[in-house]
Amino acid sequence: MTDAARTQGRAIAFVGLGMMGLPMATRLVEAGFRVQGCDVSEPARSALAARGGLAFATPGEAAAGASILVTMLPNGGIVRDAVLGAGGAAATLGPGALVVDMSSSAPMETRALAADLAAKGLGLVDAPVSGGVRRAVDGTLAIMAGGDPALVERARPLLDAMGRSVILTGPVGSGHAVKALNNYVSAAGLAAACEAAIIAERFGVDPNVLVDVLNVSTGRNNATDVKMKPFVLSGTFASGFSMALMAKDLRTAVDLAEQLAIDAEGARGAAALWAEASAALGKAADHTEIYRFLAGRGKPE
Ligand code: NAD
Repeated sequence: MTDAARTQGRAIAFVGLGMMGLPMATRLVEAGFRVQGCDVSEPARSALAARGGLAFATPGEAAAGASILVTMLPNGGIVRDAVLGAGGAAATLGPGALVVDMSSSAPMETRALAADLAAKGLGLVDAPVSGGVRRAVDGTLAIMAGGDPALVERARPLLDAMGRSVILTGPVGSGHAVKALNNYVSAAGLAAACEAAIIAERFGVDPNVLVDVLNVSTGRNNATDVKMKPFVLSGTFASGFSMALMAKDLRTAVDLAEQLAIDAEGARGAAALWAEASAALGKAADHTEIYRFLAGRGKPE
């Protein structure tokens, strides 16, 4: 029997039905899994139920009878609580069950969680994603998977339903390390493109023309390609990825560098910028609003 056949029809618990989790869980429903979802938000639970999933108020209830638990939560502390805290999933998951943390969690916390779960006979794979809401809806996310390759194989039918590519990154925690580093590079690219657009406009160049030039030149990056015109220059700022979460990812990258005794000056500068912007613009801000923050800064004293 193939892995897909063994996993098809089995119950999958899915905790965290937000901007990313809801479309990802929906992909699993569409692929034929029985999705037992959980979120603290009632509207999020109703949205899953409307898409054919089953909704529960606690991770423990959602995990009953499930062989795999997927988490898509704001950070690793919340993941730990959802699994090991009061009403958590560990108490009801079946013996030998697998936890797949697809959130962007901190790698050192993930290592510690893996050890705590192993002591309970539970496996952990970290499988964070890149691609944003659009690719979550399409099921074409890039997935970076850390952990025992045999455990990643067990999760493969789910991962294939949500993503286009699964890259094995190494031991548990390595997916989360790579994800934080990816977002550092991504945030730096977006901030650079926004700054360039602000400078170009002040000089009298249409920023749309600047983006056209960047996209056929060496300055091209993901932000110039898929963010600058649709979300920044259009003024919609509706990418679906919050500034607070991006600031968290940059902090994770800096923490990792510090834990490895590396003085990562660029990452420190980026983390400070995004933390300041997040504090100034508030919880509801989209990460593409870094443009508004930079535009409002004026000339340094
Ligand atoms: P989100 O804030 O939209 O969703 C998080 C969900 O978790 C919310 O529905 C919230 O109610 C729920 N939640 C919070 N605490 C909970 C708890 N204790 N129990 C159950 N549910 C709880 O965030 P998102 O944008 O979907 O991001 C989720 C994760 O994916 C984050 O780690 C983020 O960094 C990462 N990520 C996001 C994107 C993106 O484009 N939005 C892309 C890649 C990775």
